[in-house]
Amino acid sequence: MTNIVIEEIRDFHDELTGWRRDIHAHPELGFEEQRTSDLVAAKLASFGIEVHRGMAKTGVVGRLRNGNSPRTIGLRADMDCLPIREANSFAHRSQNDGRMHACGHDGHTAMLLGAARHLAQTKKFDGTVHFIFQPAEEGLGGGAAMVKEGLFDEFPCDAIFGMHNRPGLAIGKFQIRPGAMMAGGAFFDIAIAGKGSHGARPEAGVDPVLVGSHITTALQSIVARNVRAVDTAVVSVTQIHAGDAYNVIPERAVLRGTVRCFSKPVMSLVEERMRQIAEGVAGGLGATASLDFRVLFPPLVNHDDETRFIADAAAELVGEDNINRHGPLTMASEDFSFMLERVPGAYIQIGNGDGEGGCEVHNPGYDFNDAALPYGAALFVRLVERRLARMGG
Ligand SMILES: [Zn+2]
Ligand SMILES: [Zn+2]
Repeated sequence: MTNIVIEEIRDFHDELTGWRRDIHAHPELGFEEQRTSDLVAAKLASFGIEVHRGMAKTGVVGRLRNGNSPRTIGLRADMDCLPIREANSFAHRSQNDGRMHACGHDGHTAMLLGAARHLAQTKKFDGTVHFIFQPAEEGLGGGAAMVKEGLFDEFPCDAIFGMHNRPGLAIGKFQIRPGAMMAGGAFFDIAIAGKGSHGARPEAGVDPVLVGSHITTALQSIVARNVRAVDTAVVSVTQIHAGDAYNVIPERAVLRGTVRCFSKPVMSLVEERMRQIAEGVAGGLGATASLDFRVLFPPLVNHDDETRFIADAAAELVGEDNINRHGPLTMASEDFSFMLERVPGAYIQIGNGDGEGGCEVHNPGYDFNDAALPYGAALFVRLVERRLARMGG
């Protein structure tokens, strides 16, 4: 009976909840997680774990060795909050106005701390565990920064695992899928140069507003006509800026927006078609257009063996009936993808419940559900105990 680990962690559930609510009450934006990383570092040190600080500014890595095996594993949590004003009124609501843990990273951090504490006490493994607490997951590239600053050179990991809460999925349930699970994301700017003129004399100018409108419409042909129907992509123009007066045709217009898809080839195809459409449509109408296309996140791609491994470990804790091994694709992005590009691993979703705390992430009424803490912490523990199992023991 291995779900004894859940029961062992439940013994300090109150303490875990206290840590989670403390972090929730003191949310910090990406690369500003000073108090949070102080708290994480202090807890790790108090468990007797070696602490390394300063990677990607506020990142923290804890190293726990046991036995002689050269095998290693990485477990990752994120620490940053969002620029949202919290609408909740409970005692642990945000004390930093306009800052809120609306994505549950407070819970992810607490679950990984819970696992660290349990593993440091019980040490039922042979090898090295790296507890990776990354800054700035919410669009600022904290995961990429840690990788760039040598995360896997300084703290080699044979495999790496991460977890995100999922509102609407019951407590004690998990979902995952092999291969692509979350979309890659890009932002773009299309700058259109026309020729200004009087609004009553369009023949004297080149209207960048009309050009931008045609480009916006034509961009929708990419998903409809160029991306294979069995692949998936989104092209959204989310900003159109041009002009200041009723009677002036402006010189310039700018279109901005985002692209999401599940593979690099599709991302490249969309970028290439966007450039051709923007330049071609503008050229045909006598203007010029240039595309600036920036891929922010690669798609999150789970490795097959590690996906099976984490799903098996979760099934051992909560039963196969509570694991969805073919969970849904999501168009949202996640910067754990940068780590999965470098090291085999998998990313799983853990139920946050559909009652209290079941509110969608990034909503001002959201709260991480503390009932999920023992499940997530226990899964991290079992990943280590299974991956770094003592030989013959
Ligand atoms: Zn988020
Ligand atoms: Zn998140």
